[in-house]
Amino acid sequence: MTPKTPPPVIKLKDLHKSYGFGDAVTTALDGMNLTINKGEFVAIMGPSGCGKTTLLNILGLLDQPTSGEYDLSGEPVESISQSRRAQIRREQIGFVFQSFNLLPRQTVIENVALPLIYSGKTHTKRLQSASKALRLFHLQNREYYMPHQLSGGQMQRVAIARALVNEPSIILADEPTGNLDSRSSEIIMQELSEIHQRGNTIIMVTHNSRLTSYADRIIYMLDGRIDTDSKVEPKKPDLTAKIPLSAKRRKVSAVKKKTEVKKKTTNKKAAKTKKAVKK
Ligand code: ADP
Ligand code: MG
Repeated sequence: MTPKTPPPVIKLKDLHKSYGFGDAVTTALDGMNLTINKGEFVAIMGPSGCGKTTLLNILGLLDQPTSGEYDLSGEPVESISQSRRAQIRREQIGFVFQSFNLLPRQTVIENVALPLIYSGKTHTKRLQSASKALRLFHLQNREYYMPHQLSGGQMQRVAIARALVNEPSIILADEPTGNLDSRSSEIIMQELSEIHQRGNTIIMVTHNSRLTSYADRIIYMLDGRIDTDSKVEPKKPDLTAKIPLSAKRRKVSAVKKKTEVKKKTTNKKAAKTKKAVKK
């Protein structure tokens, strides 16, 4: 017997989405056909207004199409009840947004534990899982900070930890580095890349063509449709250059290096002097 290949994670057939009524109708998706298999890292690009966010919202069951078919893991989404959709959203899908969407009055760890509220775990267990996710992103010493005490890059890492805390198999990221400087963006991409290497499916919208190098497939959208769709060889994460030192540690290590260089030169000088003296 030949092994049965699993159905694609995502399959869209002639998907349409419009907003508004009558003269004020906007067509956001205009006949999308798309198949995404398990473990793909898809980067979606395209001009503002071409329907990228609408597409992610529909894929993530936050919104529904006006017409067309959407099968999620082989199951037509249309036939899934509201309550099960909510459950799928909670258990299988992790969202990362451009604006981080952290709750400002909750600590970092409470924010990360949030998706586990319906998991049936006790509060302590939820915090333990959140703590584990934060450790993965080297944020263990920020657990009891408030979001506003973090840098943009750290906030986005918290948001990714939150998206991953319940171990979803699909990560949807809408311009996750849109508000970050290039160094922080690179770190976020390295982290998404690692999540991808662990076998998860990632669908990421980005404006930055440099960041698509981590994806293994690049889709350009135009006017609510796919314009081009190409497979590419993804860049492997550079694990050695991953987590930035905090400004303080950077300073300390810079001073250390300087001292080491000084020591070496002094030693060399001393050796030279010794030699000279011997002569
Ligand atoms: P992108 O993310 O590519 O910039 P969007 O998916 O946000 O594009 O939007 C696609 C189109 O749909 C745009 O013309 C936008 O104005 C419109 N649109 C998006 N959301 C809504 C909404 N909730 N109500 C009305 N129009 C919307
Ligand atoms: Mg958008």
